[in-house]
Amino acid sequence: MYVTIAKTSNSPMLSEVKVIGLDMISPTWSRRLCMLPVQLPTKIKWYLDLHDKGRCVVGEAYGMSSKYVDDCHECNKFSLDFESHFIQNKFAHLERTKELFIQHWNERHSDITTSLGNREPLRWYDSFLRFDDHIQTSK
Ligand SMILES: [Zn+2]
Repeated sequence: MYVTIAKTSNSPMLSEVKVIGLDMISPTWSRRLCMLPVQLPTKIKWYLDLHDKGRCVVGEAYGMSSKYVDDCHECNKFSLDFESHFIQNKFAHLERTKELFIQHWNERHSDITTSLGNREPLRWYDSFLRFDDHIQTSK
């Protein structure tokens, strides 16, 4: 997804820059956050993922890595905010956190998304917790 914004910080002239959307930054979580609210047991599964620094929204953006915990204080804060707002069902806060994270990512870390290349939402991610309660083991 590309949208254009007016960029004023580096130049007195308005110029258009490409902004990377969450569908490119964290494709799995981009899709998940559009599905809220979700019922149990999916909610528990997603909460556990949000609690995991390498599997949360920010961790996925880093390519399923928790290295930001030491590298970027702001990313670590975003990770905590996503987890906190999700468990409290604060969807407006969650949406705001998502917007701020996308902005921060574009300003500071967009090169990471470029280096990771095109990624699809991880289909195996939810394969063992299906909505119809059937258990399916990963292959
Ligand atoms: Zn950061």
